[in-house]
Amino acid sequence: MTNTLYDALFRPHEANDGAFLALRDGSSISYAAFLKLSARIAHAMVGAGIQPGDRVALQAKKSPEALAVYAAAVRMGAVFLPLNTAYTAAEVDYFVSDADAKLLICDGADATALQPVADKAGAVLLTLNGDGSGTLAERAAGQTESYEPIERGPHDLAAFLYTSGTTGRSKGAMLTHDNLLSNAEALVGAWRFTKDDVLIHALPIFHTHGLFVATNVILLAGASMIFLPGLDIDDLVANMPRATTMMGVPTFYTRLLADTRLTQDLVRHMRLFVSGSAPLLAETHRDFEARTGMRILERYGMTETNMNTSNPYDGERRAGTVGQPLAGVSVRIAEPDTGKPVAAGEIGVIEVKGRNVFKGYWNLPEKTAQEFRPDGYFITGDLATQDADGYVTIVGRAKDLIIAGGYNIYPKEIELVLDGMPGVAESAVIGVPHPDLGEGVVGVVTASRGAVLDETNLLAGLTSHLARFKQPRRIFVVDELPRNTMGKVQKNLLRVQFAETFT
Ligand code: ATP
Ligand code: MG
Repeated sequence: MTNTLYDALFRPHEANDGAFLALRDGSSISYAAFLKLSARIAHAMVGAGIQPGDRVALQAKKSPEALAVYAAAVRMGAVFLPLNTAYTAAEVDYFVSDADAKLLICDGADATALQPVADKAGAVLLTLNGDGSGTLAERAAGQTESYEPIERGPHDLAAFLYTSGTTGRSKGAMLTHDNLLSNAEALVGAWRFTKDDVLIHALPIFHTHGLFVATNVILLAGASMIFLPGLDIDDLVANMPRATTMMGVPTFYTRLLADTRLTQDLVRHMRLFVSGSAPLLAETHRDFEARTGMRILERYGMTETNMNTSNPYDGERRAGTVGQPLAGVSVRIAEPDTGKPVAAGEIGVIEVKGRNVFKGYWNLPEKTAQEFRPDGYFITGDLATQDADGYVTIVGRAKDLIIAGGYNIYPKEIELVLDGMPGVAESAVIGVPHPDLGEGVVGVVTASRGAVLDETNLLAGLTSHLARFKQPRRIFVVDELPRNTMGKVQKNLLRVQFAETFT
């Protein structure tokens, strides 16, 4: 029986006694043991009445067993639907019923709150605690340790992954076996992963970054990962001497830089640091190089498309850019209204096409139709320029574009100026309703440690850098910018908070 993902990512390791996961407590789990665990879980899921094609929702703490549910779902042809651990019961209710899940696996502590959610959706509820115990484990215990996978082809669904909800309600992206496999292949090649690599994995496993980018790359390369519960700088520092690579969101790097233990000596054994999911400040890139001698490799992707572009492994890693299109991914920068490619260096929307691009949004055929051009390109909604060497520089999301007095204003341009001002740690620039201009520009900044910021000075400091129409009319100093679990600044929250600035 062929099963596209199983055959490429899992089957080669059935008899591999090498380590797949190294855990925080010093123990490790071999590939073979992980696959046996996933076989037992697959039998338990089938025993619970789950059929191929059914959606299997999982909201559980990061653990080897939670990751094995992904492998089990692939084996039995179910569609894996991981959910952010921060979601409330009401939010889980939305996802489970939207996706029509047939199985909901949750932490034992949430079972009482989620039983009605499962009942309403007609789903079975099983529990999986952070230590691997729970009713799923009880049902999996004693099951056969082999499971011949269900036939699945490249275009069958492997997962529903909901987008992060940064700009509005999360959408369920339907991802096929081939979407995931083709991207893992592109990344293993681009980033030179081999079986000797040891990846520090401190990301959540409900998001494309920690789940597919990290895990599928490791599986395909036959490498191993140090599987940590979450971002803890002490853990990163303790593990770097035995790791070779790390994938993180920008917060990983800013937090590491704030720690004096980050030195050239600490990273001696590391060959690659990857950043993505949110913009990495050029300053962070430079500071990291100054401290460690290593240049962070920034890449760009999204739930719907997997990874699209990456800075080169061997060539120049340019701070502030997300690099060049990955092998097999076609990227063009187009006029948002027409899809016509813009002239070189002009701002347009990033559009992508390739085996990496998802099948569509679940239950949202109209939205899906709107986001694809007739020639098959997917409209990402991210605005960018591309230079003659193919490097893409993201200037922000189309939804964050500010139109004030008829002028297009790109927040990133203003944020770069604000970030460069003395005492400013970081900034977010948003548009809010303005009676004359339509939208008025507002800056929100945080102060560097020990610095005191003053709105009048900040405003005065901008005048020589930016045309009058781009200058924020107001700048607010806050303690920190609102971010979601993936380290993304939630501009929608800032727009609400500052909605009445000009009215
Ligand atoms: P939603 O679509 O629900 O509003 P989201 O777009 O944040 O949420 P994800 O799919 O997790 O959900 O994130 C993809 C987005 O993250 C991209 O469209 C892009 O805006 C941003 N992104 C990812 N990597 C980078 C990067 N290296 N630099 C800048 N932005 C990035
Ligand atoms: Mg998005």
